[in-house]
This record gives sequence, structure tokens and C-alpha cells, in this order.
Amino acid sequence: MPANFESLALSPALLTVVGELGYTQPTPVQSAAIPVLLAGRNLIGQSKTGSGKTAAFALPILQSIDIDARSPQALILCPTRELCAQVAREVRRLGRRHAGLAVLEIVGGQPIWRQMDALKRGVHMVVGTPGRMIDHLQRGLLETRSIKTVVLDEADRMLDMGFGPDVEKILSELPEPRQTALFSATFPASIETLTRKFLHEALRITIDEPEEASLEIRQLRLAAEPDEKFPALCWSLNEYPHESALIFCNYKTSVFEVAQDLARAGVSAGHLDGDMDQFHRDQMLARFRNESIRVLVATDVAGRGIDVTDLDLVINYELHDQPDVYVHRIGRTGRAGKKGLAISLTTDRDEARLEAIQKLTGTRIESVKRRAGKGPGLKRLLESIARAPRMMTVLISGGRKDKVRPGDILGALTGEAGGLKSADIGKIEIQDRLSYVAVTRGVARHAVQQLNRGRIKGRRFRATLIDTFG
Ligand code: ADP
Ligand code: MG
Repeated sequence: MPANFESLALSPALLTVVGELGYTQPTPVQSAAIPVLLAGRNLIGQSKTGSGKTAAFALPILQSIDIDARSPQALILCPTRELCAQVAREVRRLGRRHAGLAVLEIVGGQPIWRQMDALKRGVHMVVGTPGRMIDHLQRGLLETRSIKTVVLDEADRMLDMGFGPDVEKILSELPEPRQTALFSATFPASIETLTRKFLHEALRITIDEPEEASLEIRQLRLAAEPDEKFPALCWSLNEYPHESALIFCNYKTSVFEVAQDLARAGVSAGHLDGDMDQFHRDQMLARFRNESIRVLVATDVAGRGIDVTDLDLVINYELHDQPDVYVHRIGRTGRAGKKGLAISLTTDRDEARLEAIQKLTGTRIESVKRRAGKGPGLKRLLESIARAPRMMTVLISGGRKDKVRPGDILGALTGEAGGLKSADIGKIEIQDRLSYVAVTRGVARHAVQQLNRGRIKGRRFRATLIDTFG
């Protein structure tokens, strides 16, 4: 596949713009689609969100647009007003060297007369939602004679939103011959029907890009109505072995309840919420990172900036109503080529959210079942997951500004001075005025004594054990 835009037979003006926008290389869908569309063929394209589909169809359209003919030459359908605005914006950016280019959005929520005025003055491209586009067509406001290219963007979503009949009507009213391109993240039967009817002899391209993280993340869902959530959570923690698990809730109150119920049962759990002061937040994160706390419960706000590299399990205690939040949450596991696991506890009312997530990620979330009745009861589950963490955290009252470095702490704890083996020392984190060091549980008290007795860099610091689980 061509690795640069120059080999794609685009006009010098478009190549200049692409360079100005900092697009150094075409994306795979652009490499595959642009030559096909430039050749005038119909196209059915599948590739994930964010893969540059807009430029893939906009560049060939711009290449063939006749600026002097002020009549609509391309029509782009998108499922929502916001998506229309995004596409129009990208088209205008790419068309900035086409002096006089007029791109009109034909969407609801705007006075139709304004769109009529613009059409009268003359436009080259229209981007719209099927509903409003039908309005214009039926009132004879939109001149279709010169339309040469039609794009159905996010076709699966348009059908999901019930625009199927409108889309078909629009396609049957537009003049032939013309070029039609359809882009969709998924290909349900309804899309196949549409393509058979309207996309004759189309070339089909499917771009399987390795999704940055999510291919490495196994995604599961477990049905649990609100009163079953906590047992389902415990079941998950027991069923899927992990070193560190991060649990996301939508509400502060759930965070607190879940963390408290776990901690009460002796599970090594802590929590983060937006109201926590910086010191306690840092401390909690340091303990989670150094494996003194195995389970951390957080809201999205509080969880921002958690950079834990070895996270092997993320649990959505509650699904968020925005699919991109899901992607963000589960993206914390499976990093650095490791396989991660994401489990979502879902209620009957989450179906739409799950659909939206699967659309966005282009992946399927596998359903797992918890055998009710048969498996161990909640009490047994809690006993089974109530394992003390391997490490404990010692807080030292000196940090970077006191010239304390990891080697100094290691030196104070091991060798002749401290008597500990280096295998007993875990992660050491130095902050401005304090440090956290993880030590294995069995030697924790000894480590504190040694640190309080000895010196670091010739100075005495206070060392305390952070003893509680949560
Ligand atoms: P999709 O429609 O596939 O979800 P978009 O067309 O919205 O993706 O593009 C996603 C982002 O990538 C946009 O911000 C766009 O400007 C940018 N983009 C598109 N093509 C390239 C490219 N070749 N190089 C760098 N960025 C690009
Ligand atoms: Mg798009």
C-alpha cells in the first residue's frame, strides 16, 4: 500500500493542504480508498473510528469538484448533527485551497430558510442528516441533477437510528450514474441489503488495524442487577486472578460503599474520590502502585492520572453512559503488550450503552454467567479474596528536596545497616518532601525500626508504617 500521499495521484493543491495539516502519511483506509474513489468506483469501507475515513472520501471528492459550477456535486449523509459538523469542518479544512468552496450542513435544529438561502446562493457539497435531507428533497429545495458522489458515513449507526427508509428514499431519488461510497464500523444484514440495492459492483475494503490496546484486552460482561452487584464483583475478583484490580463506579457514594464493604471483609482495598486531599490521594496511589493495596475503587474524575503499568484487571461496577469513558477506563489494563481483562457488571438497562460501546470499539463484549445458587456464597467468596497483600508501605518523612534518592533508602534497609534482603524491598517512590517504600509484609515492622534508628544521607527521618488495608 502506498506509504505517502504523493503516490496517491492527488492534485498539488490537495497535497499541499495535507502537508500543511501535518498529515505525513495516509492512514490505511486512506491508502486503500482514495485510489478506488479517484477511479470513480463504488466503495464499501470498514475501519475503526478515528482511522481517517473523512479524508478518505473528502480528498477524492475535492479533487473532482468544479468550483465554477455552483451546484451540489457531492452529498454526504451522517447519522447526527454533531457528526455532520465534524465532517463539514474536516472537508472545509481539506478544501482550504479551493477558493470559493461552499459546504453546507443540512441538519435539523436550524431554520430551514437559512439553508434554502445558502442553496440559492450556490453550494458545492452538502453534508446532512437523512431526516432534514429528505425535507429538502421533498420540497424540491435541493437541486440533485449535478450530484455525482454520495457518501453514507457511519451507515450502521444511521440504520440503528431508524434512518433506513430515509436513506433508501434519498438514494433512489438521486440521479444515476453516480458514485456511491458507504462506510460502516459493522456489517449487519441490513447494511448488506442496502449495499446490494445501491452499491453495484462496489469494491470492498476492510481495514483490520490492531487496536492500540483493546486487542490485548479481553472484554467480558456479567449480568448483575443493582442488588446483585456486590456479590458479582466479589465473584469476579475471585474468578479472575489478578495482582492489581481497578474498579470504576459512576458515583462517589458507590465508590465509598464498595471499598468499605470490601475492606470490612478483609480484602485489601482502597478508594479514591474527587474530594480526597492531595496527600491522601498520592498515598493511596503509591500504595496501589507498589502492591500494598490490591484493589482500588475510584470514580472517573478521581481515577484520572492513575498510571499503573501492571494493572491486570479493570472492573466497571457501573457502566458510564458515554462509550468513550468505557474505552478510557479499560485502556488502563493490557498495557505494554500484556494481556488485560475488563469486566463490566451490567443491568438490563445497560443494553443501549453496551451497543454504543461495541460500535465505538468495533469489538464484541463476551457474556459470562455466574452460576447462581451453585457457586460459593458471598461469605465464602469474601474469605477467598481476603488475602493480605504481599507488600506494605513505609512512609518516610524525607524526599527529593531533602536529597533523598532511592539508592539511599535501599542502602539504609539492606546490607549491614538494615539487614534486609533486597528481595524484600519493592517499589521506592520519592516525592518532594516524603517517600514511600514497599517492603514485604513479614519484615515491615523491622524495616520501620531500622529506618527510625538509622540515618539516611547522614540525617534522621521519621518512618511510619501505613498499616490499614483501605
Ligand atoms: P473516522 O471518520 O475514521 O472516525 P476521522 O476522519 O474523523 O476518522 O479522523 C480522525 C482524526 O484523524 C481527525 O482529527 C483527522 O484530522 C485526523 N487524520 C485524518 N487523516 C490523517 C492522516 N493521514 N494523518 C494524521 N491525521 C489524520
Ligand atoms: Mg467518521
